Amino acid sequence: MKLEILGYGHPILRKKCDPVEEITDEIKKLVADMIETMDAADGVGIAAPQVGRSIRLFVLRNYIEKEDGSMDLSPPIVYINPKLTDPSSDMVEEVEGCLSIPGIKLKVLRPSSINVEAMDLDGNIFFEKLEGYNARVRMHENDHINGVLFVDRIDTVTKKKIEPILKNLKKKLNG
Ligand SMILES: [Zn+2]
Repeated sequence: MKLEILGYGHPILRKKCDPVEEITDEIKKLVADMIETMDAADGVGIAAPQVGRSIRLFVLRNYIEKEDGSMDLSPPIVYINPKLTDPSSDMVEEVEGCLSIPGIKLKVLRPSSINVEAMDLDGNIFFEKLEGYNARVRMHENDHINGVLFVDRIDTVTKKKIEPILKNLKKKLNG
């Protein structure tokens, strides 16, 4: 079932989310619905607060470079109670967008690599070491479960410039 994606300005997007205590059937259904919602919106990642649930959970797909150089997407990967560690001191700037902030794409400076520890839907802990855009997507989604949005991480000059746009967007998305 496709879920409603909460837009910029909704208070749930600003809350630090609670840990998932138990992987129930309800959580499994939520994950399936989040994947459907992400795909329908042409996103590569979505976090639980974006669909109104303040819990530490997100799903995403990896970018995979094919032999001919074109990009493919991996099967969906589920992150429950993720922990991001060892961000590189090396920082890179890349354009990001967000399903909750439609129409806005901006460059965001982030560490170029990161380690992730999380639980999958079967309750198994897994580890990842990532770099490039796939590292960025995890940092973007992990921000969501801490109430942080990518527009918080842009430089102050750009922030000032887009302030009126964000204000209008907030009004439009939240009636
Ligand atoms: Zn987002």
